[in-house]
Amino acid sequence: MKDTLRHAGKRKQLVDVLIHKGIKDKTVLSAINKIPRHLFMDSGFEDHAYQDKAFPIAADQTISQPYTVAFQTELLQIERGANILEIGTGSGYQTAVLCELGAKVYSIERQKELFKKTKLFLSKLGYRPRHLSFGDGYKGLEEHAPYDGVIVTAGAPYVPKPLLGQLKINGRLVIPIGDDVQVMTLFIRKSETKFEKHEFGEFRFVPLLEDKN
Ligand code: SAH
Repeated sequence: MKDTLRHAGKRKQLVDVLIHKGIKDKTVLSAINKIPRHLFMDSGFEDHAYQDKAFPIAADQTISQPYTVAFQTELLQIERGANILEIGTGSGYQTAVLCELGAKVYSIERQKELFKKTKLFLSKLGYRPRHLSFGDGYKGLEEHAPYDGVIVTAGAPYVPKPLLGQLKINGRLVIPIGDDVQVMTLFIRKSETKFEKHEFGEFRFVPLLEDKN
């Protein structure tokens, strides 16, 4: 697991691309500048790790495009120490970004293979999410709720109710909603029963699956 000056140089270029595309949050940009994305990918794709693109990982899943990771993270407006729940651990790259921002991170993955691999990998890299869970993200993670933020990193056909219910007041849920194409959607909890909804354009994700295999 090597990180070299050449990788660091490419990372800096990626950060410049993200700034150009409109990402402003300095803490998010500095996390991306720091995290060795190439180590989160299969070695065959290593050379492409700092392109602003999604790539295949194990179990037919993908590591999200850096722009998408940055965009979703920016919408969460994370403060250090915030309780954040991630649905879809995948490669662990987004998890690492959340850790870099000083969040207490809880993350759920439904593919056993990825769950095991990523748990080991993140700890090797020195990232310490509060809890990595194998299970169904549609249910959220009630035992550690409420959350300041919930981020869904797969395309959801609808908003799972438990994810709204597990938000603190003023908590934020960032979720791509749709089947083939998803609309990035932000819900802010205003009271026990009221939620504000904002929409932010189209993205493409692998689907948030309902039945466990
Ligand atoms: N955050 C990841 C993105 C991975 S792609 C990264 O940065 O690499 C989306 C992930 O969501 C996949 O790993 C997929 O297995 C997972 N997923 C799909 N449906 C899920 C569900 N119902 N609960 C939890 N995870 C799910």
